[in-house]
Amino acid sequence: MHPDVKALIALQAEDEIVEGIMQQLDAIAPRLAALDAVRARTIKSVNELRGTIEADDRKRVDLSQRLTDHKQRHDKNVAQLDVVKRMREATAAVSQVEMGRKVLVELEGSLRDVTNRVNEARRILGDREAELAMLDEEQVGARREIQEERDVLTVKLVEAQKARDAEAASINAPLRNKYDRIRQRRRSQSLFALLAGACGSCDTAIPVHRRQSMSTTGAVEVCEACGVLIYAKE
Ligand SMILES: [Zn+2]
Repeated sequence: MHPDVKALIALQAEDEIVEGIMQQLDAIAPRLAALDAVRARTIKSVNELRGTIEADDRKRVDLSQRLTDHKQRHDKNVAQLDVVKRMREATAAVSQVEMGRKVLVELEGSLRDVTNRVNEARRILGDREAELAMLDEEQVGARREIQEERDVLTVKLVEAQKARDAEAASINAPLRNKYDRIRQRRRSQSLFALLAGACGSCDTAIPVHRRQSMSTTGAVEVCEACGVLIYAKE
């Protein structure tokens, strides 16, 4: 076998190793993304809950202020009852006090509701925050494992690329460039032996005189049908 062909076969084997490691590295990204997605969901629910609590808490403060104001006015109206003398004024004052009492009861009810709501939401928020902390703790192990895998693969990749470059250096530049171009385009096997007088990739028959010349010179040629490199085994 021609030394060029031998070297190209070896180079292709090194390329397959490099690409295999790259595929393993690519497969890591979705695993990390899955961990991130789970975490993002919990964070989103925690943040939504915090937003709800903030809004309800503002309502609570506002209601509490309104209640205080209303109570003061109401107390004043109640005190006024004692000083009104005339019947018409007295009737108006009594109905004002009654109405004021109704509003008081309503305001107190609303304040109680919103306070309960805030307290319940705070309790749930506490649970969610604990869940998030637990999740982070659980993910520490998984993330470390992934990082370790990535580190090992990165070291392997550097070594494989070095071996690949060393192999490539032994091949004459025009042939090596031709191979590299085809490999980049195909991203898979790019060098094929002739099989029963046909291209090993697309099975297109190669004319006899060309096959014979490839056998005698050891030349590596491009298949005109599918564009891969072809060589004669003997
Ligand atoms: Zn072909």
